[in-house]
Order: sequence, then structure tokens, then C-alpha cells
Amino acid sequence: MKVKVGINGYGTIGKRVAWAVNRQDDMEIVGVTKTRPSYEASTALREGCPLYAARSEDLDNFERGGIKVQGILDDLLKKVDVIVDCTPGGTGAKNKDIYDKAGAKSIYQGGEGHEMTGISFNALANYHEAWGASSARVVSCNTTGLVRTLFPLQQAFGINKVFASLIRRGADPADKKGAALNAIEPSLKLPTHHGPDVKTVMQGLDIQTMAVVTPTTLMHLHCVTADLKRTASEPEVLDLWSSTPRVRLVSGKDGIKNTGQIMELAKDLGRPRGDMMEIAVWKDGVKVVGNTLYYYQAIHQESDVVPENVDCIRAMMKLEKDNLASIAKTNRAVGL
Ligand code: NAD
Repeated sequence: MKVKVGINGYGTIGKRVAWAVNRQDDMEIVGVTKTRPSYEASTALREGCPLYAARSEDLDNFERGGIKVQGILDDLLKKVDVIVDCTPGGTGAKNKDIYDKAGAKSIYQGGEGHEMTGISFNALANYHEAWGASSARVVSCNTTGLVRTLFPLQQAFGINKVFASLIRRGADPADKKGAALNAIEPSLKLPTHHGPDVKTVMQGLDIQTMAVVTPTTLMHLHCVTADLKRTASEPEVLDLWSSTPRVRLVSGKDGIKNTGQIMELAKDLGRPRGDMMEIAVWKDGVKVVGNTLYYYQAIHQESDVVPENVDCIRAMMKLEKDNLASIAKTNRAVGL
């Protein structure tokens, strides 16, 4: 019997999580919600996801739009073991009571706070914390990216301190609102919230962050400085990351010098929706001076959290005890 999964909020993250869940052999999508009969509602149906209206007041809208729905969120909740909330940041907190009352386990995204579930999830770093849990939060795209590269460093060499500058995309490609079209905007509240968010997964890590929003739509770029406890050579660090799941080494020498070229590579690889679910680290941008490691990494904000949601379902539903086995299974199924 496959675990039954629902998605509330079939947007940028929701449609990708639905796609990834439907590629696993131990779980399946039993329904997704939309608020409007938009093109994404048709996408859901085309991808074989039963469609539900998010709220009863949306039902007329779907009828007028000629799109048939199976019911509303309450009906979907009766069918699921786990609901993955992919609604806009802050909406998940309002939904938690509804999920709890329906007896459904629930997963939230990075737009929600850590306190709501007390479990901030990354498959490599703390899979066991979500074991059998009734709710958990998959951390944001930036936090996922930082944890993917910092956690193995901490295991192998120890970390005294990290400083990271985040150069962030201003909006997702389909967004109508976001950053100014011709301006670079620093986050003035310092240090930014990204460091504390990493600590919800890697407790006790000394990390500070600054961030700047730029007028691009694809990928964040991180400039990371990590003071290691033990001296590490550049080849040792690269060896470590080459065997770390969901980290992809790229190289300027091979012609990958910017984030646009990483997204082009994802398309060349035939990735669905052109997604690069791995964190891309520039091999030739890694430098060690004394005990200090410097590196650049790029994060495809729309997709790096997607396989993490699948692993989180597996941990919460106790489908696979070993995190590396779950990661490998998810990766195989989504073509990583
Ligand atoms: P989105 O706006 O692309 O999608 C949200 C979807 O939820 C839309 O389809 C919207 O119509 C629907 N929705 C709105 N209100 C709803 C409601 N009350 N009930 C049900 N559905 C509702 O947003 P997104 O970018 O997919 O973000 C979702 C979550 O994922 C947020 O917590 C966000 O912080 C997090 N996240 C986003 C990114 C990113 O870069 N896009 C990356 C990582 C995590």
C-alpha cells in the first residue's frame, strides 16, 4: 500500500513536489488543491493529480471555468496520510489546526516558522528528527543549500565559524511582483535571518549571514567563508562534496561561469521543468587559506527542496529508517 499524499497549494513548489511524489514507488498523490481554475489547475489534471478547490467559496469559480474538481480541501484531507502544505509563506500556520483536526500528518515549507512544528528538516543532516513525527517543516531553499554543503564539512573537519553572503534572485520567473527591475537591494536587518534558520537544523553552528536581492529570477548565489577546526586541502574538500548527495560540482573551465549556464545544463540534462535540484558548487572557486575555506555555490530556488519533501514524507511515515537509503531512492526516482 502506497502512502497517500495531498498537496495544499499547487504553485511553484507544490507542483514539483507532486511530480516527485508520483515518481516514487512507496507513495502517491491522491489530490492537490488550487484556489482558481488557472493554467496550473489544468497542469495538475494533465499530470494525473486529482484536483480539489482550496476553499468552498472557490467552487463556483471552478464551475464557471469549466474545470471539474473532486471537492474541497476538507474532502481531500479525509483521503490523505500526509498533507504537504505549499501555500504562500505564513498561510501554512493558519492551516495547521485544520490538518490536525482532520488527523492528517502535515509538512510545511520554509515560509513558515520553526516553532510551529519544532522540526526543521534536511534529509542529510537530521532525517531521524522527523521519524514518525506528526508535523515538520522542510527548510527554505537557501537554508537547504547551506546545510547541504556545511553539514558534510562539519562531519569531516569540524567548523568553528561560518560567514555567508547571499545574493538572492528577486522573484521567481512566473511572479508578477518581487524586486525592483533595475536595482540591487541589501537586507538592512543584520545579520539576516538565514543564519538562525540554518541553526534550526545544525544546532550550535556559529553562522552569520548578509543578503542582497538582485533583479534576476533564477538561482541564488552564496559566497561562503568557513573557518574549519582541522586543516583541509582543496582536493579533500572537493572529494567530500563529490560524494555528498545532491551536491553537483561544476567548473568554469567547462564553461559554467554563471547561474544561467547552470540552468542551461539542467535543461540539457533533460530535467523536468529545467530543474537543478542539486546545489551547484564551483570546483575552481574553492580555496583554502590556512584553516579558512572559501567557496561559491548556486541554488535553484524552485527545486532544491523538492526531494527533501519526499524524504520528509518517508521519515514521518516510517517507510525507510536509513536517511542515505531514502535519499538514494528519491534521487533514483527523480533522475538525479
Ligand atoms: P506560489 O505562490 O508559487 O504557490 C503557492 C500556491 O498556493 C499558489 O498556487 C496559490 O494559488 C496557492 N494558495 C494561495 N493561498 C492558498 C490557500 N489559502 N489555500 C490553498 N492554496 C493557496 O508559492 P511557492 O513559491 O510555491 O511557495 C510556497 C512555500 O514554499 C512558501 O512557504 C515559500 O516560502 C516556500 N519556498 C518557496 C521557494 C521559492 O523560491 N519559490 C523556495 C523554497 C521554499
